[in-house]
Amino acid sequence: MLRNILIIILLLNNKTDLPHQNEGSFIIGSNSIQKIIFSTSSNFGVNHDGGKALDSDYNSSWISGSDSPQWIQIDFGTKRIMNKIVVYPGEKDNRKTLQRIILQFAYSGSWFDFSDITLQPVKSGCINFFGKQDVQNKIEINLGGIDASKFRIYIPADGTYDGYAAISEIEAYIGSNKLKYFDERLKGMCMPVHNGLLPDKDTSYPGAPRKYRGGEHVGLDIWHYHDSETYKPIELSRDTPVIAAKDGIIIRADWNYTPMSVKEWINQSEYFKKNPNTFVKRSFGGIQVWIDHEDGIVTTYNHLSKIDQKIQPGVRVKKGERIGWAGNSGLMGESEGKDYGIHLHFEIWIDGYYLGKGMNIKDIKQYFSWVFSIR
Ligand SMILES: [Zn+2]
Repeated sequence: MLRNILIIILLLNNKTDLPHQNEGSFIIGSNSIQKIIFSTSSNFGVNHDGGKALDSDYNSSWISGSDSPQWIQIDFGTKRIMNKIVVYPGEKDNRKTLQRIILQFAYSGSWFDFSDITLQPVKSGCINFFGKQDVQNKIEINLGGIDASKFRIYIPADGTYDGYAAISEIEAYIGSNKLKYFDERLKGMCMPVHNGLLPDKDTSYPGAPRKYRGGEHVGLDIWHYHDSETYKPIELSRDTPVIAAKDGIIIRADWNYTPMSVKEWINQSEYFKKNPNTFVKRSFGGIQVWIDHEDGIVTTYNHLSKIDQKIQPGVRVKKGERIGWAGNSGLMGESEGKDYGIHLHFEIWIDGYYLGKGMNIKDIKQYFSWVFSIR
């Protein structure tokens, strides 16, 4: 009896704990330690967390759990000036869920309602499958001019659909410019290996120390891709094609490459340890191809075993086009004439800095997974 009562109490407690608050952060722009912290009343699942409302991807949405009310909060961590907030309703099961939203700002430890908006039916006035009218797909809230560090979009019970709220994007503007949550130049990049897998190990990401050359790792090491049907991870080999991550122009293709002997490799390594930041003609990148994406972004593909015949400086390539094959050039394995160490070392450079500079490893991992998932 007592046990049953305890279970009931626990269940009741669980119920009152809902909706669970979920938190995350977003790095502003690129190469920045500034962060936007977002939190939500609840999330429908890991693929619909609050970050989906800030990722510049209009096809992905934050979707709440099924209780109401719901909210999503954005904290810039510091005072910011804004004159407009735009909210794009998202969809759950192909239907817009928002009926009403309240924009709130934090002041003196509590939230106050800045504007309360009931979404308008779209002009066509068509009735959708669910017998409800479709609503507007963009809500613009003019703020005049305010400074605030925190705001939230609160969705009262009558603003949700069956308790669910979904938002695809929340934008804040200063003048006519959107405040940047994410560097949109990185949008739509693909993995440079078909079905490539992000590595688990921290040492395969930028910022990891590299003892043998006395410096730090500035790229992403891709060791595996997955089988299209079974999803089983497969190691990269010299037969694995390397593809362009985005459209661009070839600015470097190492056609005149000669491998280092073991002795040269060791000497080079010793030299690097003492002179980690000097100009070097030959790095450990081996056979490299560099692509200029013409917007401040350059990507580099290292340790290739072979370059595709058509790849020459000045040639235009399309995203997904083959540029060469994976290998271990520039690494000790190559100097020893062996096969170990085959992987793709891939670098993303933004305005002359490598992606990941100054970030901690958790943020770097998160950032790379965004880069390859947003569309
Ligand atoms: Zn590497």
